[in-house]
Amino acid sequence: MRANLRNVTGAIRAKRANVVGEMPHWEQLRDLGAALKDDTLADLPDRLLQLERSVQARGGQVHWARDAREARDLVALIAEQHAVTELIKVKSITSDEIELNLALEERGIHAVETDLAELIVQLSKDSPSHILVPAIHRNRAEIQELFNTELPGEGQLSDDPAALAGAARRYLRQKFLTTKMAVSGVNFAVAETGTVCVVESEGNGRMCVTLPEVLVSIMGIEKVLEKVEDLSVFMELLPRSSTAERMNPYNSFWTGVTPGDGPQEFHLILLDNGRTNVLADEFGRQTLRCIRCSACLNVCPVYERAGGHAYGSVYPGPIGAILTPQLLGMYDKNANTLPGASSLCGACYDVCPVKINIPQVLIYLRSEANVQKGLTAEALAMKGMKFVMAEGWRFEGALKLARVGQGPLVRGDAITSLPGLLGGWTQSRDLQPLPKEGFREWWKRRGQEPAAASGEADTSSESKERV
Ligand code: SF4
Repeated sequence: MRANLRNVTGAIRAKRANVVGEMPHWEQLRDLGAALKDDTLADLPDRLLQLERSVQARGGQVHWARDAREARDLVALIAEQHAVTELIKVKSITSDEIELNLALEERGIHAVETDLAELIVQLSKDSPSHILVPAIHRNRAEIQELFNTELPGEGQLSDDPAALAGAARRYLRQKFLTTKMAVSGVNFAVAETGTVCVVESEGNGRMCVTLPEVLVSIMGIEKVLEKVEDLSVFMELLPRSSTAERMNPYNSFWTGVTPGDGPQEFHLILLDNGRTNVLADEFGRQTLRCIRCSACLNVCPVYERAGGHAYGSVYPGPIGAILTPQLLGMYDKNANTLPGASSLCGACYDVCPVKINIPQVLIYLRSEANVQKGLTAEALAMKGMKFVMAEGWRFEGALKLARVGQGPLVRGDAITSLPGLLGGWTQSRDLQPLPKEGFREWWKRRGQEPAAASGEADTSSESKERV
């Protein structure tokens, strides 16, 4: 798995650096993207109402979902109204967030994923591990074996990528041509016109949003933009940051319903599911700028080593570490540990096309998590350390005590096993014992006070000489 991750993220990283490097005004574009998102978020209620009016004026229907359950119920209800037992889907992380496929399956409706990587994940009963490349953890041999078992009528396929893609294409084409209803996510929606946009690379999304009779699009409320011209900024930022392309292969835009052309029934579901809580937090709010490009995952050393599944969250990587705890709330036991999954190296901030200061939000959320956790053993230990280290004499006293206390634990020139909770530290490493004499004691023994030899003392004597 690590080899797959290293290869793919490494290749995307290098390509991204090239296509971003050829944009002389990339930094200004990032500033503009961030400012446009912030402006829209500042007026979010008005922008959403404007979007609702625009979509309705063009023949679409708008639904508001407070949480995942309401959104799932809306999709299932629309499917049931049309007697649909199978629908096709464009890759949508928002639909994963609300666990749509599972809920539909429980109501007898099968959702077919049409993005190749999502199809691989679905057929293998797995879960996505990357925002852009959901099957990044799977290699070619695994996909060959999967398709040979799961795709009917294809015979024995080789591991040639063209043969595997061809088999998926034949399977999906039949679904595109026979299925009555599709579900998509939304990359952007324009309030002034009601235009909805899906950005993808395989053309499966274009099939889903044009061929079926009924289209349902689920949109996180932060995806709204004010004007059509705002799209031009994000159409530059998104492809270069995600697939490292100058232009995205398939950008589908639709506005309501057009008689005789495309789906004749269009539903837009506006999903909150914790987003208004994020919006209410002045510091965490910048997280809602995210355009799900996945650039932050591709540069993250923690993601590269741990993989997406380790986060236990639909949104993996640095964006998952700040978005999931805010959506679910800091009392969620898994989510509130996610801000700790970072070395705070800042690589994510450097590449984020909308300048979300992920390291700063991580630190902020860590302190929020500590407040939620209350007085744990770790917090008590840290408070104790703070007390001891605040005064030199306390620190020296504590060292003297520790030197005496460590006696029974020292074996030769190392401490190989610590008692109780501290034992975790010595499970895979030895601890160096404290020396018999510390620096300060050695210095005093030489008959000088540490302050007299400090840089401060030297500087003052130098300045006296200069005077
Ligand atoms: S946080 Fe920034 S870099 Fe990460 S997915 Fe969102 S927009 Fe992309």
